[in-house]
Amino acid sequence: MRDFSGDHRWLSLNTATVRKQGDFIAIAQACAKHGIRAVSPWRDQVAAVGLDNAVKAVRDNDLELSGYCRGGMFVGDASRHAEIRDDNRRCVDEAVALGAPCVVLVVGGLPQYSRPGSAPSRNIVNARAQVDDGISEMLEYARQASMPLAIEPLHPAYAADRACVNTTEQALDICDRLDPNRTGMLGVALDVYHIWWDPELMSQIARTGKDRMMAFHVCDWLVPTTDILNDRGMMGDGVIDIKAIRAAVEAQGFAGYSEIEIFSHGWWDRSMDDVLGVCVARHMTAV
Ligand code: ZN
Repeated sequence: MRDFSGDHRWLSLNTATVRKQGDFIAIAQACAKHGIRAVSPWRDQVAAVGLDNAVKAVRDNDLELSGYCRGGMFVGDASRHAEIRDDNRRCVDEAVALGAPCVVLVVGGLPQYSRPGSAPSRNIVNARAQVDDGISEMLEYARQASMPLAIEPLHPAYAADRACVNTTEQALDICDRLDPNRTGMLGVALDVYHIWWDPELMSQIARTGKDRMMAFHVCDWLVPTTDILNDRGMMGDGVIDIKAIRAAVEAQGFAGYSEIEIFSHGWWDRSMDDVLGVCVARHMTAV
């Protein structure tokens, strides 16, 4: 496993971590100031400043990307199909413009939450079938653009409203079905927050392979967690054995960024400089 204790060369910042403290331009500048070499932007943050300005900010601040968040939300009424398809195609185009290594997919849950306005459903089996179809269709477009897609399994608590792909095994099964020849265009984004509890985690990471290990996200699981969406912990403040998971991921050959992704009212209330300073320090001690 790589030694992160001496520097933060492999730290990437998911820009949602400081989304309340400034726009994407300000975040890019702050990263450069703190010696952070990579970011993973969210689409809404890019849209807020304009894609061209975001591309310029990446270039001006000499940043790389570790991903682009996010495509997906494939589940919805049949009448929404073109909207879902086109939305995801735009996401691929934006990722290409920004120079992202992959688009991270949050696949969607039940239709009424994945695409609000869709007819309510309790059929998660059907939702999962729609996810397969949606990824399959997006993959055709992504291939033309040479933009890999990384499926992010989400903790089961999000199965209804955000993602009905909930384990690493499930995500890898989709990769096997839709990209059996392992073309390098479909893989997984593994986020310790979502996968740490899984008794099958280590065996599934061992199954992943370097070609499908596209992104690695870190934060921590606080006890108690008071808000399943917006109470993520800073690495070292919770109960996840982050180093053990990183060791397993790197044993597969992964040598990319450890992307810090923290949605937290507590951290959003602190200054950008303060948060980035703590991120850098914890990356060296707790990741
Ligand atoms: Zn994540």
